[in-house]
Amino acid sequence: MRQKRAKSYRKQMLVYHHNFKFREPYQVLVDDQIVCDTHKASFDLVKGLQRTLQAEVKPMITQCCIQAIYDTKNQEVIDLAKTFERRRCNHPPKEAKSPLECLTSVVCIDGVNKHRYVVASQDPKIRSTLRKVPGVPMIFMNRSVMVMEPLSRTSEKLSSDQERRKLYKGLNDPLASGTPGAAPQEKQPPNKKRKGPKGANPLSVKKRKAPPLSHPTVAQSSSPANSSQEKSDVPSSRRKRSHKSSHKSKVEDSSNIPSGPVSD
Ligand SMILES: [Zn+2]
Repeated sequence: MRQKRAKSYRKQMLVYHHNFKFREPYQVLVDDQIVCDTHKASFDLVKGLQRTLQAEVKPMITQCCIQAIYDTKNQEVIDLAKTFERRRCNHPPKEAKSPLECLTSVVCIDGVNKHRYVVASQDPKIRSTLRKVPGVPMIFMNRSVMVMEPLSRTSEKLSSDQERRKLYKGLNDPLASGTPGAAPQEKQPPNKKRKGPKGANPLSVKKRKAPPLSHPTVAQSSSPANSSQEKSDVPSSRRKRSHKSSHKSKVEDSSNIPSGPVSD
């Protein structure tokens, strides 16, 4: 595949990824015609899809489309189609719908590509019908080259509307996302996960002041002079001195008072 085309397809799939939530492996609905045509041209359909979408793919076929292949009675093509995952469309096999009707009913649910299918179809009518549904990547064979259609107008409109909404939500109206803090968070890359334990960073949290070691002893002595010293910002040397003197005097006082009467 040419480099330029590969790049544009990659870009296009990014749009489907971001605005229409496509995820790998991409589910590719193939119609009966592209299976027959690629087989006739000895073109490997699945490899071609992988190359075009540049991703893992899951080829799928509806019951009605495989019924159309049974009708060709080409055993090789039937065997190939049987390797694809069957998409149940709930159209009874005996009253199989046309591939156009079947694919439309499977892809377009309530006006959107609910299951995020890529459609690989050789029928221009199928593609033009599904172009009206936003977000349906479409692939077909152009002679011997597999190509992807450019984004349809409906897809383009919807994705540009979405981009604009995202932009405004982030810049001008942070409340639009529900919680005030949600808008800036959305802008962060999704893989930037927080490691380690939850809660505030312990380094940024102000340490709780440990109770002073002297406290219990101070409490034990429980003299009025001590408690007043605790609150004051007096340097320790001075404090000691004042403490000593006050304590001493206190002790002397207290010893004097009781001793006085006893000695007498
Ligand atoms: Zn069907």
